[in-house]
This record gives sequence, structure tokens and C-alpha cells, in this order.
Amino acid sequence: MPELPEVETIRRGLEPCVVGLSLESVTVTDQKVLDWSAKEGRLAAVEGQRIEAVSRRGKYLVMVLDRHYLIFHLGMTGQLTIRDPRRHDSAFFERTVTGLEWCEQHAPDRHTHLHLFLGDGRQLLFRDIRKFGRVYVLGRSAEELAAFFRVHRLGIEPFTSDYNLKAFLSGFKNRTLRLKSLLLNQSFVAGVGNIYADEALFEAGVHPARRVCGLRKAEKERLFLAVQKVLERGIEFGGTSFRDFVNSEGEKGTNQEKLYVYGREGEPCLTCGTPIVKTVISQRGTHFCPTCQPRGGKRL
Ligand SMILES: [Zn+2]
Repeated sequence: MPELPEVETIRRGLEPCVVGLSLESVTVTDQKVLDWSAKEGRLAAVEGQRIEAVSRRGKYLVMVLDRHYLIFHLGMTGQLTIRDPRRHDSAFFERTVTGLEWCEQHAPDRHTHLHLFLGDGRQLLFRDIRKFGRVYVLGRSAEELAAFFRVHRLGIEPFTSDYNLKAFLSGFKNRTLRLKSLLLNQSFVAGVGNIYADEALFEAGVHPARRVCGLRKAEKERLFLAVQKVLERGIEFGGTSFRDFVNSEGEKGTNQEKLYVYGREGEPCLTCGTPIVKTVISQRGTHFCPTCQPRGGKRL
């Protein structure tokens, strides 16, 4: 599932390609990816509008148009890529983008549900194998956008002034759930998913199954720094590609080569050599080092 670094990588790739262009027309081949706000012709309202900016909140990508916001959530397997039909490799694309292979262009196939035709002849394709992704259309008003994120219960946004220690610590109050569950909860810190939750807990040296209420202040402070650090690293390396993630140009990220615990079950911890353990917490595969992240907490 694309998390904050993957969505941010897509945003950074899209922005210089699409800002200033008009959205000439939109073709939908599967209504399932449309939220009700984009159904029954409401998506057609964006046609002819100019793309002013591409922003992001948590895992949501927000395309700012003249009169609307066009919002994408990539769900589990969503991809948003630019295709230039005039490019030399557009005709001989041979395989679908489902793995780690570098692809030259993202050719439309049966999983491509939305085609946005841009003013310069290129296309923006929304492709999603599992169809958990969603497309939303909102009227362009700050209040409407704020209400949208309230309804979707988005918490503090990393890399903004909202992400401060006070706000972070308030997320621990009156909660007894496990740390891994807290990090996965989008109403705590927006944009963190399974990969970066595991990496942040390793970085902070805390066990993922510990209860939120049992954490010492110093451990919470370490986690506060760790979350932003692992997200930053993810962005720096262009996101993590295990299965479906590709950037707007169809290229995979390289952060999977930089991970300390996620996807490394049985391999030696890069810090201490202990084999990484995989367990299940909140129905999600969870990776940790039993030595660097002891259940009882580290002696300080
Ligand atoms: Zn270790």
C-alpha cells in the first residue's frame, strides 16, 4: 500500500508535468474506483479546468483545479502515472506493471480505470488492480477540503508545524492499544502505514506490541523523531517498491533496499545481528528485532 513517502514521490513527479495544463477530458472504464462525489457525471465537471497545483495530505493526493479539487487515494495497489502516446516506447510496452520491473511507460490495460487527457496530448492514468483506491471530486473551498479530511479522520501531518511533540504526545492520552496499532491509525499521524510503522518502531528501539500507556516519555520522544526520520528517508529514496508502487514515470523506488526490519524476516538485524522476527499485530504483519526492541523496553 502506498504510504506517505510513495504518495509524496508521485506528487513530486506529477507536479512539474501537469501544473498549468488543462484537463481536456476524462474517461472512466470502471465506476468502482469513483466515490459518490465523482459519480453520475460529477467527475465530468472537472473537464476543461486548469490544473493549478498538486498537493498532498496524508496518503491523499489533491489536484487543485480552477473550481474543484480532484482527490486520489491509491488504496492498496493504485498507480497514477503519466503516459505520452508520442514517446517511442508507448507502442511496444510488453508487460503489465505488477512487479519490481522498471517499466518504460505505463500502458493502459484492463486495470486502468481512469484516463485523464491533458492539454499537451499526454494522459494521466489511474490503474488499480484491487480497486480499493478512490477518486473524489470536491468544490474548491478550504472549508470543504477541511471537512473532507475531518470526515476521513486524518491526524497530524508530518513535515508541517502541526507535527510537534505536544500534538504527538496528546495522541497517547487515554489510549491502551498497542504501539503498532496506534501508528497505523490515520487519526494519529496521517500517512504512516505498515512499512514505515515497523521502521519507525525499530528506529526508536521500542517493541511494536507494547501498550501505548506503558511508554516512558523518552521513548515517546524517540518515536516522535523516528516517524519523521523514516518518512524522510522513504521520500529521499523515491518510495518503497515491493509490489505495485511506481512513481509518476513508472519507475520503482529504492527505499526497499534501505529498510531495517520490514520484509527482512529471518535476516540479521543490521545493528546487532539478531534475526528479525515477524509476528502479527492488529492483523498486520509486523517486523522487529527482539534485541534492539525488547518487550520490556530498553534500559536507558
Ligand atoms: Zn537488532
